Amino acid sequence: MSDILHDIKTFFADLGLHLELGIKKSNLGACTGEWIAPEEERKLVSINPSSGEPIASIIQADDAAYEKVMTAAAAAFSTWRMVPAPQRGEIVRELGNELRVFKEPLGRLVSLEMGKIHSEGLGEVQEMIDMCDFAVGLSRQLYGPTMMSERSRHRMYEQWHPLGVVGVVTAFNFPVAVWAWNAALAAVCGDTTVWKPSSDTPLTAVAVQHICNRVMKRHDLTGVFNLVIGPGRTVGERMINDPRVPLVSFTGSTAMGRHVAEATSRRFGRSILELGGNNAIIVTADADLDLAVRAILFAAVGTAGQRCTSLRRLFLHESIADQVVGRLLKAYPSITIGDPLEKGVLMGPLVNQDAVDAYVAALEAIRAQGGEILYGGGRIQRPGFFVEPTIVRAPPELAMAREETFAPILYVFEYTSLDEAIAMHNSVDQGLSSAIFTESLRAAERFLSHEGSDCGIANVNIGTSGAEIGGAFGGEKETGGGREAGSDAWKAYMRRQTCTINWGGELPLAQGVKFELE
Ligand code: NAD
Repeated sequence: MSDILHDIKTFFADLGLHLELGIKKSNLGACTGEWIAPEEERKLVSINPSSGEPIASIIQADDAAYEKVMTAAAAAFSTWRMVPAPQRGEIVRELGNELRVFKEPLGRLVSLEMGKIHSEGLGEVQEMIDMCDFAVGLSRQLYGPTMMSERSRHRMYEQWHPLGVVGVVTAFNFPVAVWAWNAALAAVCGDTTVWKPSSDTPLTAVAVQHICNRVMKRHDLTGVFNLVIGPGRTVGERMINDPRVPLVSFTGSTAMGRHVAEATSRRFGRSILELGGNNAIIVTADADLDLAVRAILFAAVGTAGQRCTSLRRLFLHESIADQVVGRLLKAYPSITIGDPLEKGVLMGPLVNQDAVDAYVAALEAIRAQGGEILYGGGRIQRPGFFVEPTIVRAPPELAMAREETFAPILYVFEYTSLDEAIAMHNSVDQGLSSAIFTESLRAAERFLSHEGSDCGIANVNIGTSGAEIGGAFGGEKETGGGREAGSDAWKAYMRRQTCTINWGGELPLAQGVKFELE
């Protein structure tokens, strides 16, 4: 326990922060640039999933703190939107640079609090940096097109305006990167953000807010990047129903996303939904199996199966099924499981006891439904929330394989024809990430065609997880349809305006309509 506290104190000291850590002392969970003390002290304890022991606690935002944060964010919007976009980009550039300075300690903190291995923790911070860089370039490219008007001496074009306060609700599994996907884009688009992170990962959020504050202080700005930490059922609920928030970007489970969609659309607010996945890989008879097995391992076991893009379903052509399963059964025992900050460890813990219980319950259901456990299938008896990576031979009708269990459980199916594999692949409610391993041009193109994968992400000879930020990220069906990060995802953070200017002396109407007094 004292080692852990010592570690986290060192992390924060590396960040140049003077946070009070420890169970008895408290950090604040609401910030607009200035930290806000709530009227009511409700403590949230952050637990180290590798040991089950507390790391530190923060004081959550209450209603009054929420109100202060939202008021500040709304006020800041009216000035921030007037800063020219390339200048907003310069500030985001500084944020990226500050994240470069703190990449190592912030990455370690991500691993400590969330449980992903050190290189993935660092990767998450790198993703934040990449997003900042992307947003800087974007700040000079918030283009709208010009259209040809059907009327003489008329000009028509589209332009994009800042939207307002963006509510960013994030999941535990990408505790900092998903914030950056949203906040970096929103900032160059002229919006302010209020971030409600997962209650499983409050310390990483506090650290990121401190990093933002350092940058914004230099420019004498507050209220652009804001934080409210508190329970979903109170703070989250207020945010999704708040008419001052024209856009809620929500990352989390499909069940919660459905509720967010209903709440925001009831008030004609918008939402970006990044929800659950049930991702699959198809391996054809001619696939490069060395490549496929390596990709399957990372996608199924990496982050202990706690990525939205984690591989959950594997469709193997019947001619190579035994060979691939054999190789996986050989590889799984050599995966080192343990403290994610220790060298050589490839799989850390699940995030909390609830996640372990969900894993255990899923395995009971799998057995009852006729799934055969080929490897793993139990919790690991050691402190913390560790489970075995698990391989299940699945009959085609296995109901559990239709659900997202947020744990390292891989369902293996066999298929005979590509048509059959694609049909099974697309038969679930979720539509996030997908991949095919094949050496056949026809099979690859078929998979990528509109007769192929129905997911938002479709890869060839690459696993389902580990997307780059340059593309738009998101999924279809019950994954929610949202798009974040690269490409033109920025458009969701702005409002579109179509403008027509008559610079002639006539007033012609569109479609040749005549409306003239006799
Ligand atoms: P979760 O749905 O339990 O929580 C997500 C967030 O919603 C948390 O911040 C939580 O506090 C908040 N919340 C809870 N109740 C709320 C309410 N009433 N109003 C507003 N907010 C509320 O999800 P989780 O367990 O943190 O994360 C795992 C899930 O997230 C998985 O389903 C995973 O697939 C999904 N996910 C999706 C993506 C994606 O890009 N598609 C990325 C990461 C995670």
